[in-house]
Amino acid sequence: MNKTHRLYLVLGDQLSFDLASLKGLDAEQDTVLLVEVMEEASHVPHHPQKITLIFSAMRHFAEALKQRGIRVQYVTLDDPHNSGTVPGELRRWQTLLHAEELHLTECGDWRLEQSLKDCGLAIQWHSDSRFLCSRAEFSSWAKDKKQLRMEFFYREMRRKSGLLLNGDGSPVGGSWNFDAENRKALPKGVSPPSPVRFSADAITQEVLALVVKNFSSHYGVLDTFDYPVTHADAQALWDYFLDWGLAAFGDYQDTMASDEPFLFHARISAALNIGLLDLRELCNDVEAAYWAHRIPLNAAEGFIRQLIGWREYVRGVYWLKMPEYAGGNLFGNSRPLPEFYWTGATKMNCMSQAIGQSLKHAYAHHIQRLMVTGNFALLAGIVPSQICDWYLAIYMDAFDWVELPNTLGMVMHADGGYVGSKPYCASGQYIKRMSDYCRNCAYKVSESTTHDACPFNSLYWHFLMRHGDLLRGNQRMSMIYKNLDRMPESRQQALWQRGQFLLAKLDEGESF
Ligand code: SF4
Repeated sequence: MNKTHRLYLVLGDQLSFDLASLKGLDAEQDTVLLVEVMEEASHVPHHPQKITLIFSAMRHFAEALKQRGIRVQYVTLDDPHNSGTVPGELRRWQTLLHAEELHLTECGDWRLEQSLKDCGLAIQWHSDSRFLCSRAEFSSWAKDKKQLRMEFFYREMRRKSGLLLNGDGSPVGGSWNFDAENRKALPKGVSPPSPVRFSADAITQEVLALVVKNFSSHYGVLDTFDYPVTHADAQALWDYFLDWGLAAFGDYQDTMASDEPFLFHARISAALNIGLLDLRELCNDVEAAYWAHRIPLNAAEGFIRQLIGWREYVRGVYWLKMPEYAGGNLFGNSRPLPEFYWTGATKMNCMSQAIGQSLKHAYAHHIQRLMVTGNFALLAGIVPSQICDWYLAIYMDAFDWVELPNTLGMVMHADGGYVGSKPYCASGQYIKRMSDYCRNCAYKVSESTTHDACPFNSLYWHFLMRHGDLLRGNQRMSMIYKNLDRMPESRQQALWQRGQFLLAKLDEGESF
């Protein structure tokens, strides 16, 4: 009997053996298709390490599928017949293989999913079961809510998953959220574990050569690439973090230190986002470590909150609100992204450190992204879409569903407060408290209006002054505006002028 020949397209961030769309795969009859295409690698100038990670992980995944007896068609970037787009390759292979059915798990990028829905092919779509909350479930939770708050969503996910709950369903430790215990600065004498590095095998070497040849114009260092590209290596990275990083992660997850790009962070976000690690297994491991008294509650809860709270929440918001969401610009920003975001060439030590390590490792942790590079973009009034594209390009773990709400919503408050109830704006004092960056900076964090004053200080007050009409009514900002109003007029004017001076420098294309 002739069976239906099905073609299963697997995208570069869908490298999971238990992917929903692969559930019905018949190894004897069907084909899995993986394609490296120029459009996905270059619609923003992705960091060369990110392209390497995805292509190499795809090639390793294809090999692993073949070893399981599955028929795989793999299209390399330099295949002369490569059409350059995902819809183009799907159409080409449907024709070549006479496939009668096309199967695909929903995408992580609205742009790509829309292009596949618009391309005229009859695709059978599968919900992405790697997330705890489906798009439909989130949309039903959000329905009729005027404002969404991550905290309430997170509690739902804790109840749904059963993680860190007492027998009666109450949260372990008597509170749902121990965020206040995640903000310690790094004391002297506490040093983070040395990072695990994975060397490039023959497949990765080939990809590295391909990336050098095709993406040399993209910003970012390539020869420091050391990320895991297989499920086994990603698991090894995770196991190392469980043993050496997680216990201190709770205390120091917000801290920053010069020339310490990774601190106690797991660095597994990229591996998780492309499917090399499984969300539920990670959460179960963290919970088990807590019950075994290997880690404190603030570490366990803090980590689980990032995964089933924030990560799932931003995905829900993304699919609920796209495509309109991407156009948000509450403050009407019009200033282009300064060139130094691509080079790190600035005298502000915090920015130079955060951007420098991002170029070197395609990585910065959440506070460096939110409170240093993001904070600067917010205070300086950068066009939201330009800073969003920068994050999407530069970070190894950045995919549109996770990057856009984090940057446009949380960092830039450009969505009008849908994701965050107030802008995460801060002066240099926050950076001083959470890092050692200010000690080696050309600017003085204690000054706000002098020629050598920390730029974050005057830009912070300038931001508050110029957007008072939008922010004064926000209850969570009332104390800040009281402080502003208490300042003598002459002080306010000096801050405004220093802010004007710095913004004019940016407008002239100058760095400072
Ligand atoms: Fe950054 Fe200001 Fe501190 Fe310099 S003084 S590192 S610019 S916060």
